[in-house]
Amino acid sequence: MPSFTQFTPPVDGTPLSRKNGTLVVPDNPIVPFIEGDGTGPDIWRASVRVFDAAVARAYGGTRKIAWYEVFAGEKAKEMFGEWLPNDTIEAVKTYRIAIKGPLTTPVGGGIRSLNVSLRQILDLYACVRPVKYYTGTPAPVKRPDLMDVVIFRENTEDVYAGIEFAKGTPQAAKLIEFLEKELGKRVRPDSGVGIKPMSEFGSKRLVRMAIEFAIKNKRKTVTLVHKGNIMKFTEGAFRDWGYEVATTEFRDYIVTEEETWNGASKDGKILVNDRIADSVFQQILTRTGEYDVFATPNLNGDYLSDACAAQVGGLGMAPGANIGDDIAFFEATHGTAPKYAGKDVINPSSVILSGVMMFGYLGWNEAASLIESALGKAIQQKQVTYDLARLMEGATELKTSAFADTIIANM
Ligand code: NAP
Repeated sequence: MPSFTQFTPPVDGTPLSRKNGTLVVPDNPIVPFIEGDGTGPDIWRASVRVFDAAVARAYGGTRKIAWYEVFAGEKAKEMFGEWLPNDTIEAVKTYRIAIKGPLTTPVGGGIRSLNVSLRQILDLYACVRPVKYYTGTPAPVKRPDLMDVVIFRENTEDVYAGIEFAKGTPQAAKLIEFLEKELGKRVRPDSGVGIKPMSEFGSKRLVRMAIEFAIKNKRKTVTLVHKGNIMKFTEGAFRDWGYEVATTEFRDYIVTEEETWNGASKDGKILVNDRIADSVFQQILTRTGEYDVFATPNLNGDYLSDACAAQVGGLGMAPGANIGDDIAFFEATHGTAPKYAGKDVINPSSVILSGVMMFGYLGWNEAASLIESALGKAIQQKQVTYDLARLMEGATELKTSAFADTIIANM
């Protein structure tokens, strides 16, 4: 066990562990949490009550989360003089799990983004975003109910590699010169330049996680999203490596779309297909129900996740997780919405539904279902926070805390 120098873990909990690669979940797991900046504390106060109530109701006192507050963002800066204390990283590594609210992105200084730093340091290589519709949520399309997808977005490469140089810097000039002299590619000298690396290792492990998820959760399709018609050796290679993983590592479980054109049966198998990024944005609107699990490189997945979330009623609702081979970090997908900080008005659903994902990951499915259906009921009863109330006819506008009370009462 590491010794934490700045903050102290709870004494009444047990860490998650692994046995032969499988997660072992005790009845009192220690779960580090970061409440987050801006509206983060409002959201966390409401969410943690919902989580504890669901666990108490589902397991009658035999299971309980031992919450462990760790710090990042403005609160960490105030208390410890740094944005991302080492104890926070150590806690997440040690306990293999964490959940967080939104964090302010520091402007200037050494850290580009706390979220990106956490993902890179902990090698959380998949950003996982389930998007589905909760009946009654105001949505901009006619059939939002057809959407039920899970997006696995690569989290460490492509534009997230962060390799770019500003126009006019010696680094940009050097790179432009190298491209021209050594590789025969001309770039205008007044360009900013960036590098988009996509590796076989990084692409394959992401697609592998998406297919494993599809098998475990009995999903029908895994779609590889890419722009390989133009970027053949990065995006196109992502598609090719994806099919290679599917056909060599999961042969008994999958059939590719091309194989079905040649007469192979889909029966009982997961269909693996691919779509070019621009077409998938049309298809998710026009043929929503045909899509299920997506595996995408970083930038495509960024756009696709928000577009899908918008289609079912917006970002205040969308949960997310960043997952690696050993660690899972659940988080709100929206920002800190600072103008509402401390007002107890913001919608806590993104963190609450991230908690649903977390309970699913722990195998505490009863608690997950209780929360999900109770939250769904609150929306159907039109007992909602301001963001949904302003779009619903006849809704009662609730404070964040009262929305949590309603969810708990619905359990
Ligand atoms: P934002 O905090 O997501 O807020 C933009 C607007 O979205 C809000 O004013 C509000 O709209 C709506 N909104 C966001 N979350 C909501 C919720 N839970 N319930 C209801 N409405 C919600 O985006 P931002 O203003 O661009 O970013 C603020 C800070 O957050 C920045 O420092 C940014 O870097 C950071 N950020 C952090 C994360 C993260 O930690 N994962 C993600 C994105 C941004 P209305 O004004 O219409 O009510």
